[in-house]
Amino acid sequence: MNDISGHRKQTKQVAVLGSTGSIGTSALEVIEASQGRLQAVALSANTRLEELVVQAKQYRPRWVIATDEQAAAEFDWSGLPAETELLVGAASLTTVVAKQDIDIVLAAIVGSAGLDSTWAALEQGKTVALANKEALVTAGPLVTKLAEEHGAMLLPVDSEHSAIFQALQAGQPSEVERLVLTASGGPFRDHSSEQLKRVTIAEALEHPVWDMGPKITVDSATMMNKALEIIEARWLFGIEAERIEVTIHPQSIVHSLVEFVDGSIIAQLSPPDMKLPIQYALCYPERVAGAAKRLDWQQSYCLEFQPPDLEQFPALELGLQCAKSGGTSGAVLNAANEAAVGAFLAGELHFTEIVPACRSVLDSHNFESSPTLTRLVELDRWAREEIFHWACP
Ligand code: NAD
Ligand code: MG
Repeated sequence: MNDISGHRKQTKQVAVLGSTGSIGTSALEVIEASQGRLQAVALSANTRLEELVVQAKQYRPRWVIATDEQAAAEFDWSGLPAETELLVGAASLTTVVAKQDIDIVLAAIVGSAGLDSTWAALEQGKTVALANKEALVTAGPLVTKLAEEHGAMLLPVDSEHSAIFQALQAGQPSEVERLVLTASGGPFRDHSSEQLKRVTIAEALEHPVWDMGPKITVDSATMMNKALEIIEARWLFGIEAERIEVTIHPQSIVHSLVEFVDGSIIAQLSPPDMKLPIQYALCYPERVAGAAKRLDWQQSYCLEFQPPDLEQFPALELGLQCAKSGGTSGAVLNAANEAAVGAFLAGELHFTEIVPACRSVLDSHNFESSPTLTRLVELDRWAREEIFHWACP
């Protein structure tokens, strides 16, 4: 493929981890529309193996990884293209990301299950396009230090962090006053406390703006997603929690803002469509025409911003608290939340119990300020068990 000056462009070989998810399928659309700039060489799925085979037939990757061993053992793999190698088990993710052929890893597995593969990719000095915010919430300081030590690039895919990453290019780090994360407010933005108590699983899975996987959709409804994003921003951009703000912006067109010391605010705007931040990370530092939706300037837009109601959405306080305290708190909050959301989706916990359950587990853990990765993994397991006792006393 030649560029405008006739120079040959190199194709970036991408490992799409979590390819059957919402981010994974959008990423494959971005790759498809990239006119040969990007190629999917590895795909992974946990249990949706039929979809994985359909993707393999279309994208012809060198490897597919089926992480759930039982589901893989029970599945008929005869439809897999002959040139695609099948690898089974979560450990295969860490083997594949280390392959020399892989230039960039899209970390789009949901939950702290995505931490090991991100860790392995950074250890090899690979560029990681990070959608899996839970990895940074769990082990932010260790992950960013690892990236630095191995000269690996960690590029945000989360739309708010992509917006901030882009806006930061307008000034020097010392000129940044604060980061402002936008939040849609989720489906229950205007609900009273009484209405929140009656929220059903189906209602929580219905997001007004974004079409996402079930876990992050519930996180958006409790606003735990924004809490996790505060922690993500704290470690990704190395900025104190006190200089991170949240504003409710229901239209989800302004994806976040950076305020500089002179009072100038630089924002990134585009219609709500994850294909743009995915493409920006995969093609970075280039900007290219692609598959994402665009704003239509023949249309009127009204952009609203309002401060969040912290009483109505107490998750935000938890996010700020963990971003301030660091240490073991992010890992505990994240794992407690993953388990609590799981319990809610299984009908074992009410919607309004998710955040108090997380608070209780966070408050009862033995805080350490400089934990090892092994300790964080132990605490992740511990916090999940605590939620299990909370949900099924
Ligand atoms: P999803 O549930 O749609 O997809 C998750 C993917 O991870 C699937 O491919 C699934 O097979 C795989 N997976 C699930 N459990 C696994 C496990 N234990 N081991 C290995 N693989 C496993 O989720 P999503 O909405 O695409 O979100 C993925 C990540 O991106 C999350 O961390 C989320 O917070 C983040 N993110 C998503 C969006 C969005 O618009 N969906 C936006 C910003 C950030
Ligand atoms: Mg986001």
